[in-house]
Amino acid sequence: MEVIDHLIATDIGGRGVEKLYLKYKLKRPQYLSNAANILLSSERVLIVSDFPIPPSMTPETDGPPGALALALALTSLGKSATILTQDIVADALKDFYRDVITKFPNIEKYSCLVSIETPGRARDGKYYSFSGLEIRVRPYDELFLNASEKEIPTIGIGDGGNEIGMGNLELKGRYYSTVRTTELVIAGVSNWGAYGLVAELSIREGVNLLREFDEKSVVTSLVEAGLIDGITKKRESSVDGLPLGLHEKIISLLNEIIDIKIA
Ligand code: MG
Ligand code: MG
Repeated sequence: MEVIDHLIATDIGGRGVEKLYLKYKLKRPQYLSNAANILLSSERVLIVSDFPIPPSMTPETDGPPGALALALALTSLGKSATILTQDIVADALKDFYRDVITKFPNIEKYSCLVSIETPGRARDGKYYSFSGLEIRVRPYDELFLNASEKEIPTIGIGDGGNEIGMGNLELKGRYYSTVRTTELVIAGVSNWGAYGLVAELSIREGVNLLREFDEKSVVTSLVEAGLIDGITKKRESSVDGLPLGLHEKIISLLNEIIDIKIA
């Protein structure tokens, strides 16, 4: 739904995602509904999220909350959703959701793979941060490359250009991801991309799947576990340099939109 695309792509952090979004939206106007179609026709979904921030390689607060919101929504729709991430993130998410794994699974068990804010390899085969620093990360993107070969549909959600799925944009620049997905969702903050997808699913299914999601307690737990804000690089309850109050307002706007559309 157009209004959801625009809202989640709002570039409040001013990091240039607006330019990517406007170009992409013209080229592929139905991407959010296409991504929802993939999820609605999938029974077992693997959701991957893990973005280590250099130089400490501490995972960031953008990604895992979105992964959790999407997993909870899919579970409410009677589907099975597994979250794959690294240990420190998994430990914190397990307080909110049971099906969280850290070992790479056999992707053939899944009918769809989703990445939310996970690095995708650049042209030179390395992974880079938004500011061009090299990242040490497990090759989650390999799972997506293998899925494409096996014709398992994939969805990428990103906000910078260096994430799994951003290969679809064919961006010129040495730090950008080359990893393509069947469908790509661009957002101002990757979590918002996942929340937008949950809103789209809610409208399609006529039930609000976002209402119960409490982002504040999730981010607070993740920060207690040691995660950091990917922009400020500080261990504080914020995401991409934006305070929790702002994220809360995006979620409440999405909730209002869902409620109007399903009324
Ligand atoms: Mg990013
Ligand atoms: Mg981000």
